[in-house]
Amino acid sequence: MTSLTGREPARALRASLAAELTQFAKIPALTFVRCASHPAGAAYARQVSRGARRVGVPVAEQLLDEASTTAEAIGLVERLAADEQVEGIIVALPLPSPVDTASVVAAVPPSKDVDRITRAAIGAVLAGASKLAPGVATAVLRLLDYYKVPLAGRPVAVVGRSRGVGKPVALMLVERDATVTLCHSRTRDLAAVTSQADVLVSCVGHPGLITRDHVKPGAVVIDVGATYTAAGLQGDVDADGVAEVASAYSPVPGGVGPLTVYCLLENLLHLAREAQGG
Ligand code: NAP
Repeated sequence: MTSLTGREPARALRASLAAELTQFAKIPALTFVRCASHPAGAAYARQVSRGARRVGVPVAEQLLDEASTTAEAIGLVERLAADEQVEGIIVALPLPSPVDTASVVAAVPPSKDVDRITRAAIGAVLAGASKLAPGVATAVLRLLDYYKVPLAGRPVAVVGRSRGVGKPVALMLVERDATVTLCHSRTRDLAAVTSQADVLVSCVGHPGLITRDHVKPGAVVIDVGATYTAAGLQGDVDADGVAEVASAYSPVPGGVGPLTVYCLLENLLHLAREAQGG
């Protein structure tokens, strides 16, 4: 079974971003807005900051706490939106529980939406009219292309339908002429559906959900899941079982994740170029 690691394509993308950065009159800056006490948001910011440091992009963090209100969070995003020193804003989820997430995300202007999770950004992906997509969706497509996995006309199953991950992954695969089945928690007999697919992309966040019974013999399996457990970072796929049937599998860690960070930074550079007049 081939291991579809993201390290090599991530390294190539990192080098091209670092080279591109030398062309900028002002180095683009990224700011995270996140809940101070939530480990998922902290891990996300840490991972992106590490990649950004290697490229040469400064990353700042604005922290909210459990006492923060929706109005304060929106005010913070609006200040960042108006700040000419900040080219990109990422609202890392989850936000503190009293804060209305949808209103805060909606305050991110499309011109600084690095994650591409605002309605306008998702709408543009739906219309097939955007050069930019959520970093993780771009990373899945890049990984499949890097390993020359054919997509046109082939049955592909995507498990998970969130706005930021599963849906954009599915939409981008449709744009590439794959025949996509989008599965979720209400899908009846998940294994019966996914075992028909030549390519299976799991975007759920439940370690061990995808077993050998979910995989068609010879299929390519992309594991987008990233769950922090006592045993470390885990994907959705039972790697040992799936290795017996799949032809190729992207590991966690080391598969989609390393590439996602640089796809996000690529979005930042694209937005900054537009803001600085091309
Ligand atoms: P999310 O918002 O919690 O969405 C999870 C999706 O999985 C939902 O659509 C849910 O269905 C579906 N689901 C839950 N249980 C299921 C089951 N038993 N069978 C089938 N589908 C099920 O999570 P997310 O933000 O999309 O993130 C998904 C995973 O991707 C997480 O592990 C996250 O950490 C990871 N991620 C990885 C990267 C990377 O670079 N590798 C980047 C971003 C996110 P319903 O809609 O029916 O509830």
